[in-house]
Amino acid sequence: MNIHEYQAKQLLAQYGVAVPGGEAVKTADEAKAVAEKLFAAGQKMLVVKSQIHAGGRGKGTFKSGFQGGVKLAKSVDEAHEFAKAMLGQVLVTKQTGADGREVKTLLIASAEEIKKEFYCACLLDRNTSRPIMMVSTEGGVDIEEVAAKTPEKIVKETIDPAVGMMPFQARKLASALGLKGDLINQGAKLFLGLYKTFWECDASMVEINPLCIVVTPEGKEALVCVDAKIGLDDNALYRHKNIQEMRDLGEEAPLEIEASKFNLNYIKLDGSIACLVNGAGLAMATMDIIQHFGGSPANFLDVGGGASKEQVSAAFKIILSDPNVKGILVNIFGGIMDCNVIATGIVAAVKETGLKLPLVVRLEGNNVVAGKKTLDESGLTLITGDSMSDAAKKVVHAVTA
Ligand code: GDP
Ligand code: MG
Repeated sequence: MNIHEYQAKQLLAQYGVAVPGGEAVKTADEAKAVAEKLFAAGQKMLVVKSQIHAGGRGKGTFKSGFQGGVKLAKSVDEAHEFAKAMLGQVLVTKQTGADGREVKTLLIASAEEIKKEFYCACLLDRNTSRPIMMVSTEGGVDIEEVAAKTPEKIVKETIDPAVGMMPFQARKLASALGLKGDLINQGAKLFLGLYKTFWECDASMVEINPLCIVVTPEGKEALVCVDAKIGLDDNALYRHKNIQEMRDLGEEAPLEIEASKFNLNYIKLDGSIACLVNGAGLAMATMDIIQHFGGSPANFLDVGGGASKEQVSAAFKIILSDPNVKGILVNIFGGIMDCNVIATGIVAAVKETGLKLPLVVRLEGNNVVAGKKTLDESGLTLITGDSMSDAAKKVVHAVTA
C-alpha cells in the first residue's frame, strides 16, 4: 500500500524526523484558512502541493493547462488561487501515465529556503536480504538517472536487522553527504529516525527526495525532509491500525480494490488473455507461457492455495470486467486446493455472467476426477487443456483465431 506525502510526513514526524509544518486540505476555502494561519504565525512563504500517489508533481502539468503540481505562494490570495487551480483537476506527471490523477487533496506547508537538495531512501535489499539506507548528493532529480550514469554518487549502508541502524552508520551517511558541524548530528538523528520509521511501520520503502539543507528564519542551517514517499508491506498492515486508515481507495485501480475484498491477488495488465491460477509462482509461469506462445496476459491473478467457491466466482467476475479480455485460461494445480471446488466455482460464475468468451481449463492434482466430471456435466462449452503448454496454445489460438 502507498500513502500520500502528507501522511508519510506524519509518520516520519512521529519518529522524530524533521519535516516542514503543514496541513492537508480538501477544499480551496480550507486551503485559504490554513494559509491565513501559517502566514499569521510568521511564515514568509508557503508551498501548495498536490497529493497524488505519484512523483514528478513539481514538473507535472494539469489537463487544464495549469503548470506544476507544487507551487510556492507568497500570500494568502496566491495560495487560495493555486488551490482553486489544482483541486478537482487532473495532474499528469512522468509517473502517472497519460491518464493522470485527479487531485483531491493538497498539502499546504511552510516553504523552506532550500540551500541544497540530497536524496535518501531506506529499502529492502534483495541481494543481502537486509534493509539498506542509500544517500546521494544528487537530490531533487531522477535517482534512476544517477544510478545509471554516476553510480558512485550513491552511497549505501547495509543494516543488520537484529541490531538496527548503528549510530556510527548514521554518521557515516551524514559525512557521505558532506555535512559539517551540527548538521552531522542532525543528519545522524534524521537517518536513525528514518530507519525506525521504516522498520516499525513495516515499510517496504521510505524515500526522501529531496532531503534538504534549509535556512531557518533565525538564519541557521537545518536538515529537513521536503518530500516524502512511503510504501508499506500489505502483509503487515493488520498490525498497524493507524496506517490502515491512511489507505486512499481513490488512488487504487477499482478492480484491484474489488479483488482485495475477496483476498485475491489481482494485478491488471494490458493483454487480452485473462488468467485464473492458484499460487503466485504458477501464475507467473502461466503468464510466461501465454507470452511464449504469442499471446499476452490481461492480468496476474493468484486465487491462493485454499480458495472457496465464492472466491473463484468473484475472481471470474473481476477478470471479466476488463473489456480487453478476449479469452480466459484457468490453470489450477490442486495441492491443498480441491479441483472440484474450482470446477464448481467456474460453473457457477460462467452461468451467472453468461460468459461468451473462449474458456480454456487445465486442472490437475487433488480431486481432479471429480472436478473434470463437474465441468463435463455442466453443459458449458469449454476447452480443456491436457498440460500447461497445451492449454496455453489453445487459449492463444482461441483469441487470435
Ligand atoms: P515531486 O516533484 O512530486 O517529487 O515533489 P517535491 O515535493 O519533491 O517537489 C518538487 C520540487 O519543488 C522540489 O525538488 C523542490 O525543488 C521544490 N519544492 C518543494 N517544496 C519546496 C519548499 O518548501 N521550498 C522550496 N523552495 N522549494 C520546494
Ligand atoms: Mg520529490
